Amino acid sequence: MQSFHPPKRTLMGPGPSDVPRRVLQALARPTIGHLDPAFVGMMDEVKIMLRQAFCTDNALTFPISAPGSAGMECCFANLVEPDDEVIICINGVFGGRMKENVERMGGIAHVVEDAWGTPVDPNKVRAAFVQHPKAKILAFVHAETSTGVRSDAKTLCAIAREFGALSLVDAVTSLGGIELQVDAWGIDAIYSGSQKCLSCPPGLSPVSFSKRAAEVIASRTHKVRSWFLDLSLVMAYWQGDGARTYHHTAPVNAMVGLHEGLIMLHEEGLQNAWVRHGLMHEHLKAGLENLGLRFVVEEQYRLPQLNAVQFPASVQDEAKVRRHLLEQHNLEIGAGLGALAGKVWRIGLMGASACEENIEICLSALEASIKQCGQTTAID
Ligand SMILES: *Cc1c(COP(=O)(O)O)cnc(C)c1O
Repeated sequence: MQSFHPPKRTLMGPGPSDVPRRVLQALARPTIGHLDPAFVGMMDEVKIMLRQAFCTDNALTFPISAPGSAGMECCFANLVEPDDEVIICINGVFGGRMKENVERMGGIAHVVEDAWGTPVDPNKVRAAFVQHPKAKILAFVHAETSTGVRSDAKTLCAIAREFGALSLVDAVTSLGGIELQVDAWGIDAIYSGSQKCLSCPPGLSPVSFSKRAAEVIASRTHKVRSWFLDLSLVMAYWQGDGARTYHHTAPVNAMVGLHEGLIMLHEEGLQNAWVRHGLMHEHLKAGLENLGLRFVVEEQYRLPQLNAVQFPASVQDEAKVRRHLLEQHNLEIGAGLGALAGKVWRIGLMGASACEENIEICLSALEASIKQCGQTTAID
């Protein structure tokens, strides 16, 4: 056995995105104790910077020590009690996972379905509330990474409010990439991930809960079904002012990496980061269309950070093109997921990956690989 040295890749899939050198260097700093006052002080800064990134004053804002899927599970585990009714919007892979979470927590899921590649329809959500007036929560995905669609979070959260329900939002791919206003839009529970538009390594999930959500959690009648994700326990560590108690050993170095990534976001400015993702998307779009690739999603609903495209008819073996991109050009793009598997490519422009240099690499590599694979297919 020898030390592992990963190949140098350009990451333009659905996550992880390219991790800047600054963040990698931060990860390599010495490990200290997770109750060391120096570490605790850094964690307080992480919480402040996460509030800024989420545009919220929520006290209950911190990173879960596990990937985005754990943030999802944390929100459902703490807010859903047995027999609670939850309206779940499904327009791609991740909405389906939300339904699974509700059912595992003993809740009842009422599904609002929209076609893959289209946003959640607010009229259907309204109709679902009329049909299920006791629904306690509305849950939906802001940025559906499986299709590249943005749903109107502001409107959907307002509907939840109108019917006295909490809103629970998946912002794994949206945080840091497109406008997201937790307080102004009235979002009650939200989770994200470190490895998409924040450009940190995978493994952490920033979450935030409104005061209303915190009150609902505090007045639960059943114990939270997950010990690890039970916020009443986790918070003794994250919020125990001056008297933090051991819950689990926080992934110290990963937190230092997130701290650095958040500083970089702060230095750039949140709005500037949103603008950059939009601009880079415009540049990539022009190049992809030149190559004969067609966008799956209607222009007004597209996510700049996740470009789902259909490939030209000359591509008979799409997996072969992706393999060629990886092996010959060190470029990773995403395959289709779920209903779109084998039908589309997903080209990510997340965080540090959303830059001119990556776009040039991507367009020239795609052109060469499509040509190359098309020719060899014709011969063999
Ligand atoms: C990536 C992603 C997740 C899951 O995050 P992991 O870090 O892979 O667990 C959840 N929801 C959406 C929309 C995602 O894009």
